[in-house]
Amino acid sequence: MIKKLILILNFGSSSLKFSIINSNNNYKIITGLCEYFKKNNYIIKWKINNSIYKIKKKKEEILKFIFIEIILKNKIISDKLYSIGHRIVHGGELFSNSVIINNKIINSIKKFISFAPLHNIEHLIGIYNSFKFFPDLFKKNVAVFDTAFHQSIPKKSFLYALPYNLYKKYKIRRYGAHGISHKFVTFETSKFLNIKIKNLNIITCHLGNGCSIAAIKNGKCIDTSMGLTPLEGLIMGTRCGDIDPSIIFYLYNYLGIKIKKINEILNKESGLLGLSEISNDCRNIEKNYKNNSQFKLAIDVFCYKLSKYIGSYSILMYDHLDAIVFTGGIGENSVLIRKLTINSLNFLGFKIDNKLNEKINYIKYGIITKSKSRISLVIPSNEEIIIAKDTNNLIN
Ligand code: AMP
Repeated sequence: MIKKLILILNFGSSSLKFSIINSNNNYKIITGLCEYFKKNNYIIKWKINNSIYKIKKKKEEILKFIFIEIILKNKIISDKLYSIGHRIVHGGELFSNSVIINNKIINSIKKFISFAPLHNIEHLIGIYNSFKFFPDLFKKNVAVFDTAFHQSIPKKSFLYALPYNLYKKYKIRRYGAHGISHKFVTFETSKFLNIKIKNLNIITCHLGNGCSIAAIKNGKCIDTSMGLTPLEGLIMGTRCGDIDPSIIFYLYNYLGIKIKKINEILNKESGLLGLSEISNDCRNIEKNYKNNSQFKLAIDVFCYKLSKYIGSYSILMYDHLDAIVFTGGIGENSVLIRKLTINSLNFLGFKIDNKLNEKINYIKYGIITKSKSRISLVIPSNEEIIIAKDTNNLIN
């Protein structure tokens, strides 16, 4: 029997996405999602061909259920499974490409836990459980790094103005994240606009519970908003993005807040949640934008910051900017955030087409700006396709 199926595990900061992909044609036989917004009330939703299922589970039961009940007991699928691809958020400077997982790779992923506290631990849990539940695939697990696509960023962009020794000795620098998604939308935009990758200049906005923006010049990433960790840059679901580092000293020295708690505030209690004081779920905030001043504030600050980043990245393009691309749960679905952001970029020649912007939520893919405007697009992120491609290439 020809084994052609790949299991993909994609742990985000607010969700676990999983899928089984046929490596011959990239068809997703199973897609599944478990969102972590409500504590102790996790719902796993999955689709097999056209049937949809869901079940409530405790956090510690999620992976076991997915592996045993959804995959292993389905013999038609499990018999054809030949490898597992893992999205890994942080690989430091060590990885510009994907790799087959072994002990050395696991140690590297461990080493970077402190650089991606919300993610690398979850990735390791995913890897250990894959070894346990799929022992036959022990040497067929592949790590695909989010940081890899950003390794083309030049030194002038990735260095912090700190004592240089901190970079030389401890590798403290900007790394970026969401690279798999930025890479995917770069390839898709090249196809959509019919511009060769090597000539493509775009700004890609990955807006989900984690948010980042990347400047892609001649098909290569030259700058991105996330830093040493996925905390820097844009406002996110629960992360603060850029702040004055002195705020940390103020919280510690004058308000007596412990370092552990400060870390929690910046990573888990800030962003849309912190500003709205209620929710990091953009659907909820957007629905109440007009009748709740706190929700309005959260979205206005989010869009203001995003437009400032787009403005500064457009300067990096020198001669031309082909498009601004939106992706991720918010980028693909929030009519309001796209509209407010593009409206503040009129100066750069972007004009939103309100009808296209609304319609895109149904057709999911295409242009949202007027015909005489510079182009802005929505492209649904599909990190799984990149992970499956790299996994297939390495295992075969
Ligand atoms: P992601 O991390 O890419 O899965 O994206 C999660 C974010 O996308 C959450 O903030 C969701 O509230 C947001 N999102 C998903 N669907 C919608 C929608 N229809 N409208 C606005 N935001 C959405």
